[in-house]
Amino acid sequence: MGNSMKAAVVHELGKPLGLEEVPVPQPNENQVLVRIAATGICHTDLHAAKGDCPVKPQTPFIPGHEGVGTVAAVGRAARGVKEGDRVGIPWLHTARGHCPHSRTGWETLSGAHGALVTAESPKAFEQAFDRLRSRGTMALVGLPPRKMSPPIFDMVLKRITSRGSIFGTRQDLDEALAFAGSGSVSAHFSWNSLESLNDIFARMEDGKIDGRIVANLQ
Ligand SMILES: [Zn+2]
Repeated sequence: MGNSMKAAVVHELGKPLGLEEVPVPQPNENQVLVRIAATGICHTDLHAAKGDCPVKPQTPFIPGHEGVGTVAAVGRAARGVKEGDRVGIPWLHTARGHCPHSRTGWETLSGAHGALVTAESPKAFEQAFDRLRSRGTMALVGLPPRKMSPPIFDMVLKRITSRGSIFGTRQDLDEALAFAGSGSVSAHFSWNSLESLNDIFARMEDGKIDGRIVANLQ
């Protein structure tokens, strides 16, 4: 790996990102360096770039938390991976400066015993809720930047259970990669380039992205 890498950098919250060459970070003894092959572009990245979260990230920073790639260097004390391994990055390296995960797509389970809301839009919540049967369970994953008012009247009448679910642990990632590797799930996504990031963010903000856009960095 060379000394520099291409990156989209947030220098000022709410402003377009600059695409530039930056130094390749050196892993400390407990870290590994990963050459990123592709990364999903998430609404969480947009929130971070705009500073939508209550805790503002410090600039400059490089968004992106859905990378997959190849281990390029391994710190002296790092265990479990070796150079050349294909790996995926869990989103939660450190909670500081990051919004929790949200997605631009949304799904509801069509067994209306349960509904899973992964989108951050109130509309997705309403649609999922409307499909729930009495005594159904609503699992909330996506995090709207603004407060939402749950339909308490209907929740009481239908005896709905609602619970939040945060994820992003290494075990979650292991299981997700195993699901994907076995062909049990297929991702709804399209390829794009890092150079289009500001345009992708604009479309994301307008709610015009269907599924996930993945930046191809190879
Ligand atoms: Zn994400």
